[in-house]
Amino acid sequence: MSQEFRILVLPGDGIGPEVMEQAVRVLKRVEAMAGVDFRLEYALAGGCSIDAYGTPLLDRTLERARGSHAVLFGSVGGPKWEGLGFDLRPEIAILRLRKELNLFANLRPARLFDPLIDASTLKPEVIGGFDLMIVRECVGGLYFGEPRGIEQLSDGGRRGFNTETYSTGEIERVGRVAFQLARSRRNEVCSVEKANVTESGLVWREVMTALHQREFSHVTLRHMYADNCAMQLVRAPKQFDVIVTGNMFGDILSDLASMLTGSLGMLPSATIGATNGDRFNPAVYEPIHGSAPDIAGKGIANPMGQILSVAMMLRLSLGLPQQAAEVESACIQALGEGARTPDLGGSFSTVQVGDAVLEQMGRLRTSSVSVA
Ligand code: NAD
Repeated sequence: MSQEFRILVLPGDGIGPEVMEQAVRVLKRVEAMAGVDFRLEYALAGGCSIDAYGTPLLDRTLERARGSHAVLFGSVGGPKWEGLGFDLRPEIAILRLRKELNLFANLRPARLFDPLIDASTLKPEVIGGFDLMIVRECVGGLYFGEPRGIEQLSDGGRRGFNTETYSTGEIERVGRVAFQLARSRRNEVCSVEKANVTESGLVWREVMTALHQREFSHVTLRHMYADNCAMQLVRAPKQFDVIVTGNMFGDILSDLASMLTGSLGMLPSATIGATNGDRFNPAVYEPIHGSAPDIAGKGIANPMGQILSVAMMLRLSLGLPQQAAEVESACIQALGEGARTPDLGGSFSTVQVGDAVLEQMGRLRTSSVSVA
C-alpha cells in the first residue's frame, strides 16, 4: 500500500490561488512519480473566509489543520479588508494557525540560484553564492505581546501601543532550531536583537549566550544589533549562515534578504513546531510574499516561492527528501532556461512557469541541492 499524506490546502486571497494552482500541479506530479498518496483537502482562509463565514479562519479549518501532516498556505489579505479591526483581519488566519498549532519557528531560506544572479540588485561578486537561513520566532514578540491597543488621549489625540516580550523558554526553543540547522550548514549562528535599547533584546542575548555555552559550544555564535544586521545584509550578505531573531526583525530582515535573491516571489518558508520523530507534523508551508493585490488576476505572479514551499514540505513534513531535491532542481533548471515572470525581468505567465517546472520534472534531472 502506498504511503498516504493528508495535506490541507489554503490558497487564500489575491495571487494566493494563482500560485497555489501551480504548486498543486507540481505536487500531483510528485505523487505520480513517487507512488505516494496525497489526500488534498481545500478550505478557505483569510479574506475569502471572512466573506463566506465572517471569520478569517473557521475552528473546523483549524481542526483539519491539526489533523493534517502539513498545511500548504498561499497568501491572505488585500485592500478590501483593510478597514476591519485587527481581530477580524485576513492576516489573523496565518497568525492563528501558527499560534494554535504552536508553530514557533519560521524558517526562511534565502538563496541565490545561479541563473538569477543578474536579477539581484547587488553586484555579482557581492551576492554570488549567497545562501542564508533566517530562523524567525513567530508566535511571540511584538505581534502577540500584551498589553496592546489604541487609547484615546485627553488632548484629543490617540496613542497606539504594543508590547515586545520574550521569555527564556521562548528564546531557547527557537535558538535550538537555529543551532541544529547550522550543524548541517556552515555551523554559524548570528543572533539578532536590539540589546542596546530594549530589555527583551537584552534577555534574548543573555539566553542565547547561555544556551550556546550549555548545549552548542561547537557551533560559532555571534550577536548583532538588528539595524547593523540590515546594513550588513546589503554590504556583505555572504558573511551570514543562519540568522535567528524575533518576530518583527525576522519579518523585516527576511523581506530584505528575499530581494537580494532577485524577487520576493522566489522565497519559500516553513513554520515548524515540535518534531514527530524526524518529521514536523503538522507544519505550515507558504511563500513569504503577500497577496500582491497590485498584480492579482493578471496571471503574472511568480509561483516559485509557492512551489519551493512544496519542496520544503516534502523534506521536512513528509520525509521525501529525494522528491524535494527533484522539485528544487526542476525550478533551477526552468529558471536557467528563461522561465521567469515579470518580477524577474521575464515575460512568462504564472501558468507557463508551472509548465516549465513540470517539463523539467519530466526530464527527472536531480541534483543534491537543497533549500532547507
Ligand atoms: P506583497 O508581498 O503582497 O507585495 C509586495 C510587492 O511584491 C508587490 O509589488 C507585489 O506585486 C510583489 N510580489 C509579491 N509576491 C509576488 C510574486 N509571487 N510574484 C511577483 N511579484 C510579487 O506585500 P504587500 O503589498 O505589503 O501586502 C499585500 C497584502 O498581503 C496585505 O494585505 C498584507 O497584509 C498581505 N500579506 C500577507 C502575507 C501572508 O499571507 N502570509 C504576508 C505578507 C503580506
